[in-house]
Amino acid sequence: MSGLRLTLSVDDGHPLDLRVADLLDRYGLQATFYVPIANDEGPPVMSAAHLRQLARRFEIASHTLSHRFLATLDDAAARSQVIDGKRGLEDRLGAPVQGFCYPGGRYRRRHVAMVRAAGFVYARTTQNLRLDGGSRPFEMPTTLQFYPHPRSVLARNLLSQGDPMTRLPGFLAAMAGDDWLERVYRLLALAAARGGVFHLWFHTLDLERLGLWTALDCFLARAAGRVAPLARLTNGELAAALALGPGRGALNCGPGAPPPAATAAHRHAVPPAPPTRRPSASLPSTPSGSSAT
Ligand SMILES: [Zn+2]
Repeated sequence: MSGLRLTLSVDDGHPLDLRVADLLDRYGLQATFYVPIANDEGPPVMSAAHLRQLARRFEIASHTLSHRFLATLDDAAARSQVIDGKRGLEDRLGAPVQGFCYPGGRYRRRHVAMVRAAGFVYARTTQNLRLDGGSRPFEMPTTLQFYPHPRSVLARNLLSQGDPMTRLPGFLAAMAGDDWLERVYRLLALAAARGGVFHLWFHTLDLERLGLWTALDCFLARAAGRVAPLARLTNGELAAALALGPGRGALNCGPGAPPPAATAAHRHAVPPAPPTRRPSASLPSTPSGSSAT
């Protein structure tokens, strides 16, 4: 068993997310579900009752009020999307919401400040090809989207999403073959070899439209076999572990870690992520995610 840490993100709050939750439970895996209150692009979102059901087992985080790309809005509208999305979700859950994801990965530097000011603890982007959790808590990167992208999309992503040198090892591994599913496994193996982070994200509507449920099931089974139970994290837990620094997290990946069957019960004892504040001076001048979607 490697020191690999695994986190999964499920975006957009579609009712089919409940099917993903059942799969995750089967393998003792964790995830963060990013949910808007409504989706202006058309697809439905989960009811408040379903959200509360999901929140008993997984982290629920915000994805704006109505899934609007912040970079396309004026500041007042963007701020409203950030603040009202958080408030609406907290009303439905009856609990604080700590995480945020920029819809479409489209945001600017000022939106990072808005998200921080709204009281979120961390935020996730769609930057891909990363094998670590990043160093900016309001711009957590990812490794891959579970989606059959051609390699040309990944090449464009490398140039448009920032940090190209940090992402080069992941990019080279991703470009080593044509088959997109083999790419996912190749990057999982590379992250494991480096003792890094593997962060997979997807939309359940894509799984349904493209017939990818079996492929996801197989991947989750493989991942569960490679990642120690206490290294299967929500995005919020990963952000907290990274903020604590190497060797200071609550991770125990050693031989004494509990078996998968004990994981779900254990999760309820994991405390929420503590507030983390880092100097904004480390942010790039013009962050702007370019989603692989
Ligand atoms: Zn989205």
